[in-house]
Amino acid sequence: MANTIHIPTPLRPFTDKKESVEVNGATVGDLLKDLTTRHDGLRKHLYAEDGRLRNFVNVYLNDEDIRYLQKEQTPVKPGDSLSIVPSVAGGAPGTTTDARTKADVGADLVGADLKVRPYTTDELPELSPDEIKRYSRHLIMPEMGMDKQRQLKAGSVLCIGAGGLGSPAAMYLAAAGIGRLGIVDFDVVDFSNLQRQLLHGTSDVGRSKNESAKSRLNDLNPHVQVDTYETLLNSQNALDLFRDYDVILDGTDNFPTRYLVNDACVLTGKPNAYGSIFRFEGQASVFATKGGPCYRCLYPEPPPPGLVPSCAEGGVLGVLPGIIGVIQATEAIKVILGIGEPLVGRFLIYDALKMRFRELKLRKDPDCPACGTHPTVTKLIDYEQFCGIQPEPQTVQPKGGAVNEWEITSVELKRRMDAGDRLLVLDVREPNEYQINRIAGSALIPLGELPRRYQELPKDREIITQCKVGARSQRALEFLRTVGFTDLKNLKGGILDWIDKVDPSQPKY
Ligand code: ZN
Repeated sequence: MANTIHIPTPLRPFTDKKESVEVNGATVGDLLKDLTTRHDGLRKHLYAEDGRLRNFVNVYLNDEDIRYLQKEQTPVKPGDSLSIVPSVAGGAPGTTTDARTKADVGADLVGADLKVRPYTTDELPELSPDEIKRYSRHLIMPEMGMDKQRQLKAGSVLCIGAGGLGSPAAMYLAAAGIGRLGIVDFDVVDFSNLQRQLLHGTSDVGRSKNESAKSRLNDLNPHVQVDTYETLLNSQNALDLFRDYDVILDGTDNFPTRYLVNDACVLTGKPNAYGSIFRFEGQASVFATKGGPCYRCLYPEPPPPGLVPSCAEGGVLGVLPGIIGVIQATEAIKVILGIGEPLVGRFLIYDALKMRFRELKLRKDPDCPACGTHPTVTKLIDYEQFCGIQPEPQTVQPKGGAVNEWEITSVELKRRMDAGDRLLVLDVREPNEYQINRIAGSALIPLGELPRRYQELPKDREIITQCKVGARSQRALEFLRTVGFTDLKNLKGGILDWIDKVDPSQPKY
């Protein structure tokens, strides 16, 4: 009887879209080797160049984390299954870990001890007659009642982001009667947000997300204090912002912010209600409680930039953040009230297509750089650098065109096409994106298929790589260079720039 390896969504392009692959072998290492023999494209995602299994790839054997064992040598029995769980993108004085020992912050593994503030009943804020009416469905539950509702009113949650996850989370927290809700965002509402970000409506397009969120939340529940921060969360402001709240709700969509949120939660001792989403799959957990694991226990290192697509590149089912964001809000409420069994040490994975939840056990890593016994992360760092994201090159750009030698502008491309230049526009997006808009005459080879299909490309013509905004096509260009193509340019700004400058008749997405 063979073994099965479950393939997560972001890696399925490399297994011919298969969700699971049957493999054979006697150890975990054998099974992974057999997997990459069958699907060669997976190799660079799972293994580093030195042949070591990449750090951000976690392997579970029958839902048990085997990271702390010699994972590749772990023997397997017939019928055992492996799950690969990669990280998904969709994140002064007293800044050291000592801050975590303060009695008024942090929490323990047991629900009842998780209470973020040991209020006595006398200290809790009173409820007005209006509030009592509003919260009556809570008040008649024996597990909730007046005291728990007053505890909720005394509580505060900081939502990082007012987007897909932040929308349902903030709305339910406000409706439930949380006392104070902070929102950190600096974006403006775009039409493409409305498919899932329910805090914002069509009339809000172009408005700041903070303003839009605040008016929606105030309308939902005027008893809630909504504090908005029109800023990018960064290493300079995170600790000060976090200190002022009981729970941090991570609704970010990129790795630098995710690691920043995690580290700032560990340093300030604030529980992190974590969620992340990608296409049809979501993840949730509660990190950085006292005694519980943090995000870095699970993923000490971020994936190299570009290896894991973001939601903006990969897409997300509109209802998915609804599920995951509400799970985050539920956990935040449980932590504030100290009730139930929060997702501490448990990693929840949700598959919307199968409508199935799986739960993986998560252990605190004693060697964790952030929350381990000898932490090396004692202050916030440069997270863009940590995640390998290069700052924009500061080179002097030629006037007007602003391109480097490997780039071409939409206007220049149009001019050369009209002049009849022998060039080939290579679109590296997915077929469903190509259906929405395209440059007439372009060839389509999705980025993921390029390594096995590049031989279809002509060697005697200049190739212009192109995608949505220019990032994937830049990677395509770099790949083509490694396999011997030299006459290459990347379309700066992608199809969106082309539509803006050359062909406004086509729809944008
Ligand atoms: Zn940790």
